[in-house]
Amino acid sequence: MTNPQWTEVDEYFTDTIAPADDALTAALADSTAAGLPEIAVAPNQGKLLQLLARMQGARNILEIGTLGGYSTIWLARALPADGRLVTLEYDPAHADVARANIARAGLDKIVEVRTGAALDSLPQLEAEGAGPFDLVFIDADKVNNPHYVTWALKLSRPGTVIIVDNVVRNGRIATPHPDDPAITGTRDMFDLVAREPRLDATAFQTVGTKGYDGLLLARVTD
Ligand code: SAM
Repeated sequence: MTNPQWTEVDEYFTDTIAPADDALTAALADSTAAGLPEIAVAPNQGKLLQLLARMQGARNILEIGTLGGYSTIWLARALPADGRLVTLEYDPAHADVARANIARAGLDKIVEVRTGAALDSLPQLEAEGAGPFDLVFIDADKVNNPHYVTWALKLSRPGTVIIVDNVVRNGRIATPHPDDPAITGTRDMFDLVAREPRLDATAFQTVGTKGYDGLLLARVTD
């Protein structure tokens, strides 16, 4: 679902208070040129992620689902010079584009793009003692959303912020759709969050250049 007015308003917001710079613009252009799908967060959503990371005082960020590194760049810019961001990407071609985009943005010293299925990389991160992460952004294959939230919790501390993208599924999230694994996975994730006493959460719908969508935002309780 799209609406020209949503796009016009998003462009107004972005142009006035959340402009993308050359490195971000080039990251999107090179992602498109390399044939990656145009499913990165919108600029004002990238800025939201960056502000949340800054408000959180994040020093250690985990991202699940890199694509061309666009949201990665927004998030990594919230980190101090000695901060760290690990981003997990299944597709080696996406990871290569992301690494180049991240290097051009001057963030390759603090960002690691790890290639492979996230459900293989997450236990490795645990074994390496990579956590706890201060913020986890989940934006990969939606069928695995319950597993990703479970891993985010394992790699968290009290106060960790967990964000899950694309939870609206064009409004179909509100009823079961057994034929759609992305909806089933996302609904199972909502059930998990509802049952989990260590998570305090909300979710909200958004409209904009990316159409009709929404985010889940959770905090690990003290
Ligand atoms: N966060 C990115 C942004 O806003 O710029 C967009 C990420 S895109 C929506 C989802 C990415 O997750 C794709 O690049 C896809 O290849 C990756 N992905 C899909 N399944 C995955 C898996 N099992 N493990 C890791 N990454 C996966």
